[in-house]
Amino acid sequence: MQASIEKRVADGERLTSDESRFLFTEADPFWLGKLAHRVRLARSGRRTYFVRNRHITPTNICVHRCAFCSFSADSVDERAFFFSLDEILSTVTADATNGIDEFHIVGGMPPPQIADYGYFRGLLAALHAQFPRVHLAAFTAVEIDWFAQLTGWSYRKVLADLKDAGLGSLTGGGAEIFDWEVRRRLCPKKVRAEGWLAVHREAHALGIPTNATMLYGHLERPEHKVSHLLALYDLQAETGGFRAFIPLAYHPQGNRLGRQLGRSFRTTALQDLRHLAASRIILHNFPHVKAYWVEFGLKLAQVMLSWGADDIEGTVGEEHIYHDAGAGSPQGVAVDELAYLIEQAGFVPVLRDGAYNELLLPGAVTAGGKKD
Ligand code: SF4
Repeated sequence: MQASIEKRVADGERLTSDESRFLFTEADPFWLGKLAHRVRLARSGRRTYFVRNRHITPTNICVHRCAFCSFSADSVDERAFFFSLDEILSTVTADATNGIDEFHIVGGMPPPQIADYGYFRGLLAALHAQFPRVHLAAFTAVEIDWFAQLTGWSYRKVLADLKDAGLGSLTGGGAEIFDWEVRRRLCPKKVRAEGWLAVHREAHALGIPTNATMLYGHLERPEHKVSHLLALYDLQAETGGFRAFIPLAYHPQGNRLGRQLGRSFRTTALQDLRHLAASRIILHNFPHVKAYWVEFGLKLAQVMLSWGADDIEGTVGEEHIYHDAGAGSPQGVAVDELAYLIEQAGFVPVLRDGAYNELLLPGAVTAGGKKD
């Protein structure tokens, strides 16, 4: 099995379901890491990407209330928050003038009496007008589906309208696990797999790059992960519009599913490394795989750079979704610290923008990892 997988990856061929399943079940972890690293080296060499970004979370009020989500709230909850456009702009202005290359905007979907489509479009338009140089990585496919419900428009019309307002790329959230038997227990109100994939297909057709994710470590079995990743592989083979894949581990603290499962512990480091490496191998047609340090912590994220990841997210500034589920990582990290962490792992730190264009940071880090 190992030889056939290695040959298929070297030849740029799609893995079979059995081969993909083997990666999640029987494959020796060190062989897995080594092969994932080979795929990473073939894609990016020793370059490791990061971005000076600021996460913006307009609200945690959400009509979907997914069972695994520790972040969302009903509008009457004490912990519910909703920021006006003015509040968001005044909060991010100081950061943006200090050097930000990307705003990353995702959050809850409040009922229309709290925020209609115009609010979200207005947020992009206002940020784009005030910070035209900053890339706007905004919204998941679930949010695009919600906007289509609010407006009665097609996915294409919503995406084209948001692109006019300044949308640079679509984030990869909301994919969770595509299989309906699992999905209906995780997030029955959310757009199904076909809709999630259709949103990304439309975005790619409009020249909007997107990311993709998979949430693991809850109710899913290996075959669910395999069908999820192969569906992403197939869409990428069709459109070539995905930039990065981001594996996400389920955190059981503070949510309904965790209470149902009676479990408070998370996935282990070795499980996280296996999921990262298996994803990198199956999705060998994706340019990048990200070690999301906010979720895994900086130390494990650093190790992940040798297990298939060639991107370590960014400076972040403020994060709600994983911190509400008990993540112990810091809220933000300095550019110098990220570059140091990458160099110490034996890689070359490369500052990027939201579309993976390589940038130079004057006076700080060059593409060679040296101070100017
Ligand atoms: Fe809403 Fe997203 Fe949380 Fe689901 S996961 S409740 S869609 S914020």
